[in-house]
Amino acid sequence: MLLRFALHGWHRCVRIPQSKCRPADQNLKSKIVHGVRFLALLVQKYGGTSVGSIDKIKNVAAKVAAAKRAGNDVVVVVSAMSGETNRLIALAQEISPLPDEREKDVLISTGEQVTVALLSLALKEIGQPARSYLGHQVRIETDNAYGKARILSIDSTKIVEAIKAGEVVVVAGFQGVDENDNITTLGRGGSDTSAVALAAFLNAKACEIYTDVEGVFTTDPRICPQAKKLGKISYDEMIELASTGAKVLEIRSVEFAKKYSVPVHVRSTFSDVEGTWLVEEDDSMSDVLVSGVACDKNEAKITLVRVPDEPGLAARIFGPIADAHIVVDMIIQNASEDGTTDMTFTVPKADHQKALAIVEKSLPEVHAKGIRVDTEIAKVSVVGVGMRTHAGVAAIMFQTLAREKVNIQMISTSEIKISVVIDAKQSDQAVRALHQAFIAN
Ligand code: ADP
Ligand code: ASP
Ligand code: MG
Repeated sequence: MLLRFALHGWHRCVRIPQSKCRPADQNLKSKIVHGVRFLALLVQKYGGTSVGSIDKIKNVAAKVAAAKRAGNDVVVVVSAMSGETNRLIALAQEISPLPDEREKDVLISTGEQVTVALLSLALKEIGQPARSYLGHQVRIETDNAYGKARILSIDSTKIVEAIKAGEVVVVAGFQGVDENDNITTLGRGGSDTSAVALAAFLNAKACEIYTDVEGVFTTDPRICPQAKKLGKISYDEMIELASTGAKVLEIRSVEFAKKYSVPVHVRSTFSDVEGTWLVEEDDSMSDVLVSGVACDKNEAKITLVRVPDEPGLAARIFGPIADAHIVVDMIIQNASEDGTTDMTFTVPKADHQKALAIVEKSLPEVHAKGIRVDTEIAKVSVVGVGMRTHAGVAAIMFQTLAREKVNIQMISTSEIKISVVIDAKQSDQAVRALHQAFIAN
């Protein structure tokens, strides 16, 4: 009944070649359900704003009960009430600017304990049997990377028993447990990943991600009112959008969905309109040059000034950062001058103090003349599978930014994405201009 799988070998900047993407492992999945086939199993995930008050939790309970009455078995994953995870992080930081990571995970996982209990109570109150479970109770086993743990296995025994008994199963998102029973969390937005992983393990017919917008838009509708809702988007494009800041889906959830071919439907908690389906790429998609514009203000830029330009330098700088599980996104090494160069890279803002401490420690070894840090940056990206077959996207992007007098500090590209780092103050303006140039015109 215990099933292990690994989602490895994929790095933010690298696209998995199609040949390496296995279809869903039906053989493994059928073992999970004890020979019982849950043809009508739906996994639904409700985000923080959807469960942000008692009235909203009652609204979610009514939706879940309706799905059950319609003949579905339902597993629900919930996030903490909106603002709660931030509140808990701030409490820890009142005690220590760099809190112990194990204890921080014990603390910030409590937000979801509140909402699973409240939703189960609300379901029972309207006559729908329900049962709540925390990550360790259904044994969502992860590695031990506190704050960004990866799901390795899920023991579905209790979930299957509850489903067979006619109950709705309410599982706490965002959390798991490592092999030594330490509580772990999956990273911000991680309830999406909990939901898609459960849908993959349980072979659900779909994973519905309920949120506060009506689906995936061509850009964040809160920044750009002209943004259009997409009826469907390919897994690859969604991976790029998620990795470049479109927080409507957490990136690892999309990686899971792609790897295990989980049908994912992103839709609104507050209306019944059809949302956006994540699908395999089809021919019609390459006609569209750019399908989305994304913005990420959660990165910080670190520059090591005038380091010697010699073999082994990058390994000395980035080795210890990787050992600390910090994801480095963009890297730029300037042209060599007098045998020295500037090395600039970006890391998640939440990790920048940790990265700084590591880099400062290695200063004598890397012989840098100084360190500069900039937390007021934004990464703005355009994404589209059409870029594989059409040239000139970068030129239009740079011309558009030049017209807006936006200075580009860093550039990175992949087969279907171009990203630039700019001053955070100009990011909304840049997003709107790029959306106008590529999508709305
Ligand atoms: P939840 O709490 O439901 O998980 P999130 O706040 O994590 O919701 O994600 C939903 C938000 O994502 C939206 O309110 C929207 O502002 C933002 N967003 C960013 N880019 C996009 C996009 N391309 N399409 C839709 N929403 C987006
Ligand atoms: N509560 C967690 C967060 O705020 C997980 C989630 O909402 O998906 O990041
Ligand atoms: Mg979210």
